[in-house]
Amino acid sequence: MPVYPDLINIPFNNIFIKDLFVPGVPHYASERLEPGYWAIIQGNNILLLSGAVRPELPFGALPDWLTPSEEPLEIGLWRGRPLRIFPVDKEFTLQPPFVAEALNAVVQTIDNATLGIGGVARQILHWELQSRFCSLCGGRTNPFSREWGRQCSLCNAKQFPKISPCAIVLVRRDDEVLLVRNSAWPAGRYSLAAGFLSLGESLEECAAREVREETGIEICEITYVGSQSWPFPSQIMTGFVAAYAGGELIVDHKELEDARWFPVSQLPTLPPTRSIARRMIDTFCC
Ligand SMILES: [Zn+2]
Repeated sequence: MPVYPDLINIPFNNIFIKDLFVPGVPHYASERLEPGYWAIIQGNNILLLSGAVRPELPFGALPDWLTPSEEPLEIGLWRGRPLRIFPVDKEFTLQPPFVAEALNAVVQTIDNATLGIGGVARQILHWELQSRFCSLCGGRTNPFSREWGRQCSLCNAKQFPKISPCAIVLVRRDDEVLLVRNSAWPAGRYSLAAGFLSLGESLEECAAREVREETGIEICEITYVGSQSWPFPSQIMTGFVAAYAGGELIVDHKELEDARWFPVSQLPTLPPTRSIARRMIDTFCC
């Protein structure tokens, strides 16, 4: 089993882009652009140029068919050059040598840095779409801070990016681990119980509730082990390991297809190694 030095050194956290990306004051770029890189997002995909080794972020002039319909958003420097981002529709048809690579692919084909900056672009574009109008009065909003705050032009209400906290939990019982399966996942894949934080909860309480609701199992010794930014569209996954405290396995079939205790020596198909779920399983089930 691979051993990871730290459960925060995971793609989508800043670790893989911090030496390449210098965030700037975000602004919509004017027509005369200094040549720069492009992060073009299509749903959960990033559009890349197929390169000699791996697909790469496009640089410089884009072909006419890929010109953004609105002004692109400049978000800083990537490898010392301006980085601009914009979305394209899911129906948009690509032409070679451009390829669409899924940020959440079953098998990771792009390097961790490209994955990381793609995740940042994905989250920013989601926030831009969410924050154009005031949630109190419906007025148009304008940027007001040097980062991502927006203020209503009518009632002055301010809003900031919304990131949803989630707890993800690895439960051990002797030489077994509790894994769950969602019917939307690839065939045979199991992973860890997880869910969104509710109002008034600590993350540890969220961890215990999610495991109880999904599987009927009670847990104890709930210990934080690391976290991962998860840009689908805007979560922070907080990882916990816990011990079995009691209860019989009762699968909540409204949420899950299956849940089982697996011997750690006979694990099923697991999520990709870029996920905190997999890092936790690899770290605590060996
Ligand atoms: Zn308002």
